This record gives sequence, structure tokens and C-alpha cells, in this order.
Amino acid sequence: MLVGLLAGAVLGLIAKSLFGEAPWLEALIANVAYPLGQIFLRLIFMVVVPLVFSSLVLGVLEIGDVKQLGRVGFKALVYSLFASAASVIIGIALVQLVKPGAGIDAQTRDKLMAGFAKQSDKAIANAKAAKPMIESLLDLIPKNPLQAAVEALQGEMLALMVFAVLFAVAYSRVRDEENEALRNVLVGVQKASMRIIDWAMSLAPFAVGALLFSVTARTGFALAGGLGSYVLVVVLGLAIQQFVVFFAVLKVLGGVPPLEWWRRVREVVLTAFSTASSNATLPTSLRVSEEKLGVQPRIGTFVLTVGSTANQNGTALFEGVTVLFLAQVFGVDLTLGQQVSVVVMAILAGVGTAGVPGGSLPLIVLVLQSVGIPPEGIGIILGVDRFLDMCRTVINVTGDLVAATVIAKSENALKF
Ligand code: ASP
Repeated sequence: MLVGLLAGAVLGLIAKSLFGEAPWLEALIANVAYPLGQIFLRLIFMVVVPLVFSSLVLGVLEIGDVKQLGRVGFKALVYSLFASAASVIIGIALVQLVKPGAGIDAQTRDKLMAGFAKQSDKAIANAKAAKPMIESLLDLIPKNPLQAAVEALQGEMLALMVFAVLFAVAYSRVRDEENEALRNVLVGVQKASMRIIDWAMSLAPFAVGALLFSVTARTGFALAGGLGSYVLVVVLGLAIQQFVVFFAVLKVLGGVPPLEWWRRVREVVLTAFSTASSNATLPTSLRVSEEKLGVQPRIGTFVLTVGSTANQNGTALFEGVTVLFLAQVFGVDLTLGQQVSVVVMAILAGVGTAGVPGGSLPLIVLVLQSVGIPPEGIGIILGVDRFLDMCRTVINVTGDLVAATVIAKSENALKF
């Protein structure tokens, strides 16, 4: 997979620099590389809903009693808030220190914005469709679980999870010998979904290469003018979260050697990086946590499934940095109150973002609007968003694995 990834990226860069905008290159991307990547992604997305539902119900049944479930859920929540807060603070400290927005003059700004006007209109329209806070919270309790399943990949995943957990708790109450059949059905659903993932994974080396090729052959190396230090701030922040915060947590709370841990999760890292989607990476994380990290499924399934949507430390960092960066670009001075609200919203964004590529963009628009920065400004960063999306998704997903490891440790369910 790593070979595929590097080969795709390098070939893409070479193709871009040698042939630039050549029509045949675009045709190659559109007709070969893009579809190959899509087949892989779609095979995975296809089983996300059945897999999430069956895994979550089985996970809750395995945890057994509601008290223990509550305890694990509570630990996961506290951990997630702590980890997201840490990453937002790291990001914001860096962006204030480096001030990447100060280096962008009005002309560059307008040029960048004009280049992505269409895409930013789309992001703004998506954000407009967003509901008020209380409605969004109520919508976590789905009226119709089937609809939540249908819209799972557009952001209804949490609602589907709420249904699955309630359903599982209820089922555990009425379950007896006569009622065992449903459990067996779900085991079958889970196994079959995993098998489809295995098939997708056998495509992975090629598909990952193709995905990377499409990205680099289109965008090349050249960073849209002036964005270099912004990209650097985001990547540096993510790296600190990964190699300082996560490693310390693993060592202190998990009692595992961080480097060895990192070595064992590399398959997950590569999948997250190449797909830019936490949801698409979930099946791989479920397998790796059980087989390589020795996290018992009774803890791992629940923490990883819910975490793939609700614990996104990388996204939280990215949102905080991006909003402050754009404030610098537009010369908007944020009051202390506004800065605090950016931090809080960035942490919440880590919970509310759909685990799909570009899932965090609508939320950025909302935050921009709420602190008086022109929402079209999002166009400025769209040119580098795909790359940053790949990086932040790695942190989102490894963050879930860190949570699973330390919570399993505290529940006596870790055999590293
Ligand atoms: N792509 C991210 C994920 O799936 C979400 C985002 O930040 O856009 O985790």
C-alpha cells in the first residue's frame, strides 16, 4: 500500500510537471485513475451502514450491562473533549505565533477566492441548509432510522448510531434463548461486510496509488501562492498532536510503547491518508484494533464506531487554525470572546463533522459567518484542502485508536 501510495504521488507529480494541462492527462485521470479509486471507495462506503449498525449492536451486547456501557461512553466523551481541546489549543497557538494570514495581500486573496468561487458557493449553500443548534441536537434522535441510514454518509451517522445503541440496549433486555436469532443475523451481516472490505483491500495498493495520482497530477507541487505557511501551521499542529500528545497519552494512560503502537497501526494511517475519510477507514481500524493492538472488541467496537464520527481531533485543529487564518487574511480583529467561541465551535465541529472527504467545510462557513468573516473566504483554502483533509483524517482516525487503547486499558481489556 505504501508503495502504491508513493508511486501514485510521485508519478502524478512527474506527469503534472512534464505535461501540465495536457488533455490526455486529464483524460487518464478522469477515465482510469479516478474510477479505480472510486471503485475502492464505493466498495467500502457500501458496507459502512450495515457494518456500523451490526458492529455497534453486537458491541453493546458484548459490553453487557448498561452501567458498563455508560462508563465506557463517559470515558470516551471525557477523553474526546480533552483530546480535541488539546489539538485546538495547539493549532491556535501556532497560528497566532506564525501569523500565516499576514503574508497574503488583497490581490492574492481575491485571486485565490475567484479561482474557487463555484466551490465556495456550494459550501456556503450547504452551510445555509444547516439547522439551529437545538434542532440539530433533537435530530440526533432519528424519527426514522431508515432515513438516518440513507443519509448516513451525508452526516446522519450519529443519528443512526443513537438508534443502534438504543436498539441494542432494548434488545439486551428482551433477549433470551428464543430471541437469539437476531444476534446471529447481525453476526452474519458483520462478517459479510468485513469480507467485502477484504476484497476492497486487495484493490488497495492500486486504488491508493490511483487516488494519489489523481490528486497530485491535478494540483501538482506548486502551492497556491502564499498558502505555504498556512499549510505548514496545520501540518505542524497535527504532527504535534500525533507525536507529542497522542504518544504521551499512550505511554502514560495506555502503558504501551508509542513507537511500536504507531508501527502496528500503519495500515490505518495509510488508509486514512489516501481516502480522507474516517468512515471509509472504520473497517480497517476495527480490524487493526482487535488483531494488532489487542483491544477486546467489547470496548474497541463501541469506541471506534462512535469515535469515527464523534471524535475528530484533527478536524477540530484544522477548523480553529483555518478560521483564525482567514481572520488574519481579512484583517478582522477577533475579540477575546469571539476567539473563545471559535475554540468552542472548533471542538464541537470535531463532534458534528461527517467523516467523509471535505466534511468539515460547511462547518467552517458557519463559524466564519458567526464571527463576521466573509464566508466566501473559504475559497482561499480550497486549493490545498484535499491535502490537508488527508492529513487531518489521519489524526482523526489514530485519535480514535488512541481512545480505544487507553479506555481498553482502563477496563482491563487490552492485550497489547
Ligand atoms: N475528512 C475528514 C474525516 O473524514 C472530515 C473533515 O475534516 O473534512 O475525518
